[in-house]
Amino acid sequence: MGQSHGAKETHPVLAKPLATVRPEQLFEVVEAIVKVQRDHGRRDDRKYSRMKYLVEAWGLERFRAEVERYVGYALPEARALEWLSGDDHLGWHPQGDGKLFFGLFVENGRVKENLRAAIREVVERFAPEVRLTAQQNLLFVGIDPSDQAALEAIFRDHGVALPGTLPLVVQNAMACPALPTCGLAITESERVMPQVIRQIDALLDRLGLKDGPIPHVRMTGCPNGCARPYSAEVGLVGRSLNSYTLYLGGSPLGTRLGEVYLDNVGREEIAARLEPVLEAYKRERREGEAFGDYCHRVGVKALQERFSDREASYGR
Ligand code: SF4
Repeated sequence: MGQSHGAKETHPVLAKPLATVRPEQLFEVVEAIVKVQRDHGRRDDRKYSRMKYLVEAWGLERFRAEVERYVGYALPEARALEWLSGDDHLGWHPQGDGKLFFGLFVENGRVKENLRAAIREVVERFAPEVRLTAQQNLLFVGIDPSDQAALEAIFRDHGVALPGTLPLVVQNAMACPALPTCGLAITESERVMPQVIRQIDALLDRLGLKDGPIPHVRMTGCPNGCARPYSAEVGLVGRSLNSYTLYLGGSPLGTRLGEVYLDNVGREEIAARLEPVLEAYKRERREGEAFGDYCHRVGVKALQERFSDREASYGR
C-alpha cells in the first residue's frame, strides 16, 4: 500500500492473484517470489524497492515466468477471487465442535490498561486459543458454552466495551500506531482516532445516516499506509503536523483504491470537510449503496469540483 510524499511515481497498489497453489507448494512458491524480488527488485532507491514496482515494470506474466523458473514448474492459473464479506466475527459464534469463539473489538488494536488486565484474566481462567484478526481485533477460540456469561462478565467488570455496544463507525474504523510508537510517523493516528471517529459518528447521527451502510474510515500517521487507508471508503493519511490527506471512494471490502479528495485537512476539520459529501450521499444514494461506492460512482474529481466553493472558505 505504501507510497512516499514527494516521490510522485510511488503509489498504492492492490495485489493481483498470481497462482492458486496446493498447500504443499505454498512455501516454495513464496520463497521463489521473494528470490525474484531479491534478485531483480530495485536496490538503488528505497522508495522504489517494493515488489509492486517490479511487477508493474515487468507485467504479471513476466513476473510469473520468473517465479516458475525458480521453482522449476509451471504455476497453476489463479482461480478468480471474490470477496463477499469483511465481517470480523465480533461477538459469539459456534465453531462447529460444540464450543464457541468470541470476537472482541479492540479500538485501533491498542491493548492497554483495563483491556490488558481483562485479556490476561480471560486467558488465565479459560485458556482459550487467541487469534489476531486483520482488522486488529481478537478472537478467543474454544470457549465452553457454560463459560459464556463468565467471560463476558470479566470484560464488563474491567469496563471493556462488548461488541455491539459501540457505534458501528467506531467498530469499522482502524488506525495505525504512529506516534509515539512508530519512528516513521509524521502525524498522530491511533491516539487521535478515537476523537476523530466520534466526531464523524456525531455527524452521521446529525445527518440521519446511521440507518444505512456505515462508512469504513482508516487513518495512518504517514503515507506507508499500514492501516490500509487507500482502499477504505474514507482514508486519512498523515501529511504534516496535524494535517491529513483525505481519500474517498474505496470500497467497503477494501477491493478498490480511493482517490485524493482533499489535501492538508486539519485534524479538527475532518468531520466538517466530509459533511457536504455526506449530505450529497444522503440525497443521491441508491438503495443500499455504500458511501465509498457512491463517491466512486459520482466521481471523486466531480465531488471536488462540486464543493470547491465551500472548500475555498478553508483557505488552503
Ligand atoms: S503508516 Fe503508521 S505505523 Fe505505518 S509506518 Fe506510517 S506511521 Fe508507522
